[in-house]
Amino acid sequence: MKILRVDMSQNQIREETVPAAYERLGGRALIAKILLEEVPPTCDALGPHNKLIFAPGLLAGSGVTTAGRLSIGGKSPLTRGAKEANAGGTAGDVLGKLGFKAVVVEGQPSKGDFYILYIDGDEAEILPADDLVGLGTYETSDQLQEKYGSDSTVISIGQAGEGCMGGAGICVTGEGGQRSNYAARGGLGAVMGSKGLKAVVIDKPVGKAVPLADAEKFRTAARTFAQKLINDPKLGTKGSQHLYGTASIVAAVNEIGSLPTRNFSAGNFEGMEKLRGEHLREVTLSRGGEAGTRCMPGCVIACRNVYVDESGKPIVGTLQYETIALLGSNLGLGSLDEVALLNRMCNDFGLDTIETGAALGVAIEAGLADFGDFASIRGLLEQVGKGTVLGRLIGNGAVATGRVLGVRRVPAAVGQGMPGYDPRSLKGNGVTYATSPQGADHTAGNAFGARKEVNPLGVEGQKELSLKLQIIAAMLDSTGLCLFARPPIIAEPQLMVDLVNGRYGWDWTVEDYNRFNRDVLRTELEFNRRAGLTAADYRIPEFMREEPLPPHAATFDIPDSDLDSVFEAL
Ligand code: SF4
Repeated sequence: MKILRVDMSQNQIREETVPAAYERLGGRALIAKILLEEVPPTCDALGPHNKLIFAPGLLAGSGVTTAGRLSIGGKSPLTRGAKEANAGGTAGDVLGKLGFKAVVVEGQPSKGDFYILYIDGDEAEILPADDLVGLGTYETSDQLQEKYGSDSTVISIGQAGEGCMGGAGICVTGEGGQRSNYAARGGLGAVMGSKGLKAVVIDKPVGKAVPLADAEKFRTAARTFAQKLINDPKLGTKGSQHLYGTASIVAAVNEIGSLPTRNFSAGNFEGMEKLRGEHLREVTLSRGGEAGTRCMPGCVIACRNVYVDESGKPIVGTLQYETIALLGSNLGLGSLDEVALLNRMCNDFGLDTIETGAALGVAIEAGLADFGDFASIRGLLEQVGKGTVLGRLIGNGAVATGRVLGVRRVPAAVGQGMPGYDPRSLKGNGVTYATSPQGADHTAGNAFGARKEVNPLGVEGQKELSLKLQIIAAMLDSTGLCLFARPPIIAEPQLMVDLVNGRYGWDWTVEDYNRFNRDVLRTELEFNRRAGLTAADYRIPEFMREEPLPPHAATFDIPDSDLDSVFEAL
């Protein structure tokens, strides 16, 4: 395998063999290690010393179901610490098949120019992107696929990334003209913009397959894994995740009182019925849209949808729970059509819908628009695409918006806007938001699925639960597996060990696998420590400790001593 080094200061590309220290790493684990070894922790996240790392997971390209997610990482301009976000689409799979352990983008052009990195098999070049500057991700992807082929993969940023806005994400295309796969969190789109990189284009590799050291062991484990997902009552073809997508949890999150509503001022929303997954499916199918689609080939869960307008025209490639929560109930909007339109705008500008929904909620609280008033909210979001001062404010996320507008109620932790679970009524997620090296990120350890094991409103057991989930998330993010594929691996870790050993011929035991996962967190925590993050940065905002959240009058009452000791058991 190889690493591609792309120096944007010198306009140079070089290929290197993988150093021994990186050989057994992939995805998030490799990103953490490269950050710790190569990036000055106190550097400016948008300066030349930060690196933008594209790292497919350990199982990328091997055909294991859901294992083609592409991890993208760097020092985050929002959290100031290590960041990894991953996206579906075809990028992880093709980079894996081409034998890339990572593509590392370094330096910065001296002028504000933008470029494309074009990868065709073993060849790569940096090309001017003058004609793409100022375009959204849809048009960028369309133009590049027209030029390089509709089966090429495009990884791109929109206006938000070009403007180095902290809420910017990175868009990845999928099969069949699919858009809307996002490595959304942490402002990595801004890091890409700071490198002058408008897009990466990868030609589809023909006739390439990853080598399997022990094909029989690998295939047996891969088949078992896929079958367990298919048989899972929640994930299989009759499961809620497949039928209703991630929106299947809207009603349940509302029920436990954790659904962000009007800038996190209530935990349930009176308009919830029209946002729930069942309604989403009904509307989608009645209009000729699609349900049960997949973000990458071979996924047996297929949790996505194509949401269409009344005339059957696609609005957005998938409408997901987090977006429904942050751009819907959090803004007082109870219409999927309205949420979908805001979602499309975010996708086009290249914005993280979570960060942007949190920022819009704060801006509404400051009086710049009205909760429930779609026109005024859309007007605010349009400013991002126009690049006005107000738009740049919203595009820089919840914390920046709150600071400038003088709003104290900012739902963020470690500099990053909170996802769709108010931590006062789902305290395990609060522990994750306040302790994960990734900041307020549900994918780093989501306790929602464990709400029957640990009372979401109680204090007891939350820190242990969060740590357990954070360790599992680190594994998923390092192998390229989708978060939703975790149940069989939790139940049977030997499956993962067999997959990795079958692929590489290693001699991992379950103990090695556990150590590997914990090391990911240790490495990220060490980077963050060296970057200057202290206990004061890892906190839930004060208003959530003091302001009771309806309907349970819940406050976030996990003691600081619990938060500060989560990783003692690591
Ligand atoms: S479960 Fe959904 S998000 Fe995960 S890989 Fe499949 S389609 Fe993509």
